[in-house]
Amino acid sequence: MKVRHILGISGGKDSAALAIYMKQNYPNLGIEFYNSDTGCELAETEILIEKLESVLGSVKRLRAIEGRNPFEFFLEKTGNFLPSPQQRWCTIRMKLEVFEKYVGNDLAVSYVGIRGDEDRDGYISTKPNIQAVFPFRRNIWSLDVINKFLNNANTEQVLDIYDKLCPQGRKKYDITGILKQPIGKGFYYSKKLNALLDIDTKMFNHAVFEFLKTTDYPVGQLDEFPLIDNTDVLVKKDIFQILEDSGVGVPSYYKEIPFEVDGQTGTYCRSRSGCYFCFFQQKIEWIWLYEQHPDLFRKAMEYEKNGYTWNQNETLADMIKPERIRQIKLDVIKKQNANRKQNKGTNLVDIFGDDILCTNCFI
Ligand code: SF4
Repeated sequence: MKVRHILGISGGKDSAALAIYMKQNYPNLGIEFYNSDTGCELAETEILIEKLESVLGSVKRLRAIEGRNPFEFFLEKTGNFLPSPQQRWCTIRMKLEVFEKYVGNDLAVSYVGIRGDEDRDGYISTKPNIQAVFPFRRNIWSLDVINKFLNNANTEQVLDIYDKLCPQGRKKYDITGILKQPIGKGFYYSKKLNALLDIDTKMFNHAVFEFLKTTDYPVGQLDEFPLIDNTDVLVKKDIFQILEDSGVGVPSYYKEIPFEVDGQTGTYCRSRSGCYFCFFQQKIEWIWLYEQHPDLFRKAMEYEKNGYTWNQNETLADMIKPERIRQIKLDVIKKQNANRKQNKGTNLVDIFGDDILCTNCFI
């Protein structure tokens, strides 16, 4: 059965870099690139996708609803109930369901751009016909695959697989020792996983691939899977490098813009892709939106009605009172100064991190 290879471009730097990386290194996989459009992205996202198309070929645009703004359609359906970190109907309706409908019942490998310097897991499909793979990480496999592969109940099978890959020598001795040690208190999955990767990452990947062939996972249905020979680990600076080298460049909303308060200077930008009103953004990013895209900020304000607000305990109208803006900016300047003293980065991404658990919107 044909297995599709699919890669979602969110509008963020990491998925853009992954798309370029995969196109350049694995052109024969025939990857389908797509973007799920919420109708509420910044114009910078559209510009990025157009630039990417010059490197990748066409990017399929998916929309939950045709003919009208998807977000407004679903907002109406929920009775103007704004989404929030606890009630993320937006991601489910406008990203996940659209993606799963696009894949249908086909077997698919979905490539996800979580970086090697991030400690999080990404989208794990609840549909068994979709398997996530993470090419930028040392461990390219998803948690569910690792949990099965290293499960105590499968130890004999995995020992047999490794036996064929590495029939003798010191390496075999070390691997056998690790495999025979059961998962339990003090020897968790992550510990066992890292011990095996430390010995030989490629061999580990080959062993997982052989294991998957005995399952229904999409990768297991492939005759070959070139990523098992890839030991690249890509971190943030590599991502920026890929984007610059390809000519696509970094999405312009990441560009730090200087501001001044009470004679002190700081910088702001938007640290992630996604909807312009995303409730995950920091206060300073709201202020960036207010000052750099006032029309969009006003639109976000209009959605706040019947007591629903984007931020807990603060309306957008309150947030843009001069004294509040001053306070938010001074808070950022303080954090940036503290980071500078510790020789840490002062960009918003360095200060707030970019580890929010939403691979569908922000990668
Ligand atoms: S970017 Fe934010 S608001 Fe938009 S779909 Fe994702 S989580 Fe929801």
